[in-house]
Amino acid sequence: MFIGSHVSTRGGYIGAAKTALSIGANAFQYFPMNPRSLATKVFSLRDAEACAQFCQEQRMLSIGHAPYPLNPAAGDDERSLMVRLLINGLEITGACGSVGLVVHFGKYVGKDPLQGYKNIIQCLNSATRAYRGSSLILLENQAGEGAQMGLTLEEMVQVRKLCEHPEKIGFCLDTCHAFASGMWRGDDWKEMETRGERLDYLPHLKAVHLNDSVHPCGSRRDRHANIGAGYIGNDHMRQLLTSRHLQHLPIVLETGTGRDGTHREEILHVKSLAGKGDPR
Ligand SMILES: [Zn+2]
Repeated sequence: MFIGSHVSTRGGYIGAAKTALSIGANAFQYFPMNPRSLATKVFSLRDAEACAQFCQEQRMLSIGHAPYPLNPAAGDDERSLMVRLLINGLEITGACGSVGLVVHFGKYVGKDPLQGYKNIIQCLNSATRAYRGSSLILLENQAGEGAQMGLTLEEMVQVRKLCEHPEKIGFCLDTCHAFASGMWRGDDWKEMETRGERLDYLPHLKAVHLNDSVHPCGSRRDRHANIGAGYIGNDHMRQLLTSRHLQHLPIVLETGTGRDGTHREEILHVKSLAGKGDPR
């Protein structure tokens, strides 16, 4: 399996890959550009390609996380800015050899919720029309804090289907968000799996954000807890981790670091839950 955590790009994209390997990860997530800004980034192709080559040699999988202000549900006046940023993120993650760029489903503040979905589709269409590389847009489900969109499998699947290039769009499942939104109760993974197959969600699931939840199921509050230390708990995480749909995907922790300042111990813990105990 491919298990790891979010890592810093302080040493460039290649630095992120090397950091991940050094903590026992074979999957990782990084910020391709400044996570707090809407500015596009001029990146080093050499650095990105070194990252891609390293990951190929070490058999590692990676995903990039789009900047937080990137909102596909934003209205017309902001669309070109959002599209430009999406394309920039896709170009960087593509050059880094990543599976895709994780993008939050979106936050719509207007009166007509349907307009929010239309905005998302238009934004995704414009980006996928312009980008010809292999990196995918990975839509991430939301917890329901502030934005009441992207909380169900049905919505995620429907938006993808209505896009011009669904083949360029996949999903990233955040377990904390799924639990907080009530999409996943923790004890019903089998049901969620059946539904995910029937709705055509799981075949397009390309990455997992593995996080426990500080708040109970249905709370709609987005606070990540370390695995086993939240309301989801180890047993329910084990059910999810042993699903056949997750065996080939990058599974990435977005939790607080351990005593050594890294995710090394938590990665070992997740491996043991997944039944892939450390062979060393
Ligand atoms: Zn996440």
